Amino acid sequence: MPVTKSKKTKKLVSLILCMYNEEGNVHELHRQVSDVLAEMPDVDFEILYVNDGSRDRTLLYCHEVQKTDKRVKIVNFTKNFGKEVAMIAGLEYARGDAIIYMDADLQNPPKHIKDMVREWQRGEKIVLMKRLNDVQPGLIYKICNRLFYWGLNFISDVKIPKAMPDFRLLDREYVEFLKKFNERDSMFRGMLSLVTDMSKQKVIEYTSADRFAGTTKFSFSLRSVKLAIDSVLQFSVRPLYLAMYFAIFVGLVSFGLGTYVVIERFILGNPTPGYAAIMSAITFSGAIILFIQAIIGMYIAKIHLEVKKRPLYFAEYFE
Ligand code: UDP
Ligand code: MG
Repeated sequence: MPVTKSKKTKKLVSLILCMYNEEGNVHELHRQVSDVLAEMPDVDFEILYVNDGSRDRTLLYCHEVQKTDKRVKIVNFTKNFGKEVAMIAGLEYARGDAIIYMDADLQNPPKHIKDMVREWQRGEKIVLMKRLNDVQPGLIYKICNRLFYWGLNFISDVKIPKAMPDFRLLDREYVEFLKKFNERDSMFRGMLSLVTDMSKQKVIEYTSADRFAGTTKFSFSLRSVKLAIDSVLQFSVRPLYLAMYFAIFVGLVSFGLGTYVVIERFILGNPTPGYAAIMSAITFSGAIILFIQAIIGMYIAKIHLEVKKRPLYFAEYFE
């Protein structure tokens, strides 16, 4: 009797959930995710919980769900290394033919796992989720948000799309591309733009839900400032050029002022009035010099961190 060729093996998708102090969400998250996965018997899943040094019972609860579900794997950081690093660890530990990043607070509704997987099965290599609702209500927030992204994308070489959180699917091909970066100070949203044309990728719109339990780990203003500085410094040297143009401009202005003083004093015979103008010119140029030095300093700080090539994180793995 002829041996039938091996039956078609199922593809594996890795869900990556980064957690920092999410004890109130672990069980509910796992329940909701499992329900959605049960609707997709044609795909195998692994659920990778990356515990980013939580100080509450997140790890304990992750172990609890692991006992009931063989698909669960745990990467446990020795301390809090930050979400971006936790995402890199996810990239390194995931074994799936595709990965899906999701927040652990149920703000990214698990039902969309299905939509992303279906698009991937149709051949999409990247599936991005675009949030339709604002995270904070109000017109002022909206205007500030618009201005922020407009300014950011003007100065940075890499476009950072707004309302595109780290809720997305990546095919193994792109996982391997991202793993090549090997930078300690990474920014996922920007990095993917260095690999491919983001405007050509499949986008699914969704409405984000409220946090199930716990509170946000980021303050809006702090995160925005960090996002702005990082996306500029990591993907562009434009500030250095802008600083130079600005310095030339200030040089020309002070040359013009100097010429004016000479003409006033020696040709028109008027003594130069007061110290105020001189002082303001001096302090103005002083401020510009400091500003430009700060820009250069920030680039040097990035180099300093990068050349050490320290490990990004320390973790134990529970299979
Ligand atoms: N997170 C993390 N490490 C951190 C901060 C946050 O792994 O240092 C996780 C957090 O547990 C959550 C996700 O990143 O699953 C998004 O964080 P959060 O919900 O606080 O951000 P927000 O939704 O408010 O932007
Ligand atoms: Mg959240």
